[in-house]
Amino acid sequence: MSVEQVIGAVRVRVDRMRCVCSEFCTYIAPNTFETDGEGLVTLLAGSTDSEAAVREAARNCPASAITVEAVEP
Ligand code: SF4
Repeated sequence: MSVEQVIGAVRVRVDRMRCVCSEFCTYIAPNTFETDGEGLVTLLAGSTDSEAAVREAARNCPASAITVEAVEP
């Protein structure tokens, strides 16, 4: 199951079926990602993390479960 949200100029999508619960994303961008009671990634509303932090989290996800794409203006 995917969850997505627009944060600033990017659309962030997480694929919970791919998530392996490493929690790297929650350390890198803690205002965007959190893990739920099952240990799987989910998105927080109203993120204040920078686009750079969100992209860094996506790069460091060992399961490639995070997708970040630019939103058309
Ligand atoms: S870094 Fe990837 S695998 Fe780890 S919790 Fe976040 S989405 Fe899941």
